[in-house]
Amino acid sequence: MEAGPRPWARRFPMKVTDTYDVAVIGGGIVGLATAMALEEKGRRVAVLEKEAALAAHQTGRNSGVIHSGLYYKPGSLKARLCAAGREAMYEFCARHGIPCERCGKLVVAVEPGDLPRLDELQRRGTANGLTGLRRLTPAEIREVEPHATGLEALWVPQTGIVDFREVCRAMAENVRQRGGTVFLSTPFLGVHREAGGLVVHSPDRKLFVRGLVNCAGLHSDRVARRCGVEPDVRIVPFRGEYYTVRPERRHLVRNLIYPVPDPRFPFLGVHFTRRIGGEVEAGPNAVLAFRREGYRRTDISAADLWEMASFGGFWRMAARHWRMGLDEFLRSWSRRRFADALRRLVPDLRDDDLAPGGSGVRAQAVAADGSLVDDFRIAQGERMIHVLNAPSPAATASIAIGHSIAAHAVAQFFS
Ligand SMILES: Cc1cc2nc3c(=O)[nH]c(=O)nc-3n(C[C@H](O)[C@H](O)[C@H](O)COP(=O)(O)OP(=O)(O)OC[C@H]3O[C@@H](n4cnc5c(N)ncnc54)[C@H](O)[C@@H]3O)c2cc1C
Repeated sequence: MEAGPRPWARRFPMKVTDTYDVAVIGGGIVGLATAMALEEKGRRVAVLEKEAALAAHQTGRNSGVIHSGLYYKPGSLKARLCAAGREAMYEFCARHGIPCERCGKLVVAVEPGDLPRLDELQRRGTANGLTGLRRLTPAEIREVEPHATGLEALWVPQTGIVDFREVCRAMAENVRQRGGTVFLSTPFLGVHREAGGLVVHSPDRKLFVRGLVNCAGLHSDRVARRCGVEPDVRIVPFRGEYYTVRPERRHLVRNLIYPVPDPRFPFLGVHFTRRIGGEVEAGPNAVLAFRREGYRRTDISAADLWEMASFGGFWRMAARHWRMGLDEFLRSWSRRRFADALRRLVPDLRDDDLAPGGSGVRAQAVAADGSLVDDFRIAQGERMIHVLNAPSPAATASIAIGHSIAAHAVAQFFS
């Protein structure tokens, strides 16, 4: 961290306005779950969120699926935290009266090449502690999803649906009730060290804290840099675009219908998701976004583009995955291509059953060698913890992630 005053510190020369034990940067689900876990451990927490509302980015724009943990490498952080987080999420929703449903999902093999991958998924799922996984014949597929077809499918009973924005509201309320504060419209600008702790700067306030947790999602690498930490990864934004199935055709899908994923890109593969409110969504795809919070194709930020272009890892990633990127890009511009991919699962779907839906942007951490960081990545510095990669299923796993971070934070900041 630089010793002299930074430009933002000169612009906002106010005195320390309050003292907390921990500052959490980011009012998405990972930040709020972390704040809640710290409060449960008796620590007073300030959450700083730059937007006027909670869950304004990844958390409030995702598919709303409580993932089972089927896909993840046994023993990985994702596998462990997803299993623990999933059950904690169901329990949290039940305790707070948040509508959610353990509706299960079908993973459908549509061509012979999918079958060995389906075997591998079943093996992984069993290794990750999932019980009740069942292989279905084409006739059994139709009993579960009358309009789906495939050679075989895997039935996963643990998967569910919820609105993660509702979960965030309850988490924030929990933080406030225990004495913490959630500051909205409060961007984190930087931090400097003082005896026994840190002073956290935002335009309207300066907080003295014993430690800081960075849960800034799409900006987590920038926030780390503002803390004087040079992360070994860079966030590259990928937009996920959805279509909505027209209400009169929603009967085509009862619950969740997924293709067998490519193990190299498990987040790819458009699928059908019933939302907790009854809508049926199709998607998302994954196209490179030209702005970190670029929800429309026309959203472009010169600064964000420059940052990407000046990162060698971005070009190495592009060289490795250009074909996949091109496919996703073409699908983004053509409803027919999008529908073609979906018709492999539900042949009765017509192009005009799909109306444009919303979109979200994934914060994908990319390493300098161009590899996509697959597992959750949490780095520690002096009095700081930085969540540098929290992709799907981080919403599902958030309560378990929060407990894990809180345990590290208490050991590091207060010993
Ligand atoms: C299209 C899509 C679909 C997905 N589907 C699922 C799913 O079905 N199930 C699942 O479990 N996961 C899903 N995910 C993944 C999941 O949404 C994310 O892993 C999770 O929401 C990450 O939460 P977060 O709190 O880390 O990030 P975010 O929700 O992005 O929150 C980060 C917060 O930090 C704030 N912030 C940033 N910079 C600053 C700053 N300087 N000062 C103050 N605040 C700042 C931002 O405004 C933001 O609110 C999906 C993701 C996407 C994009």
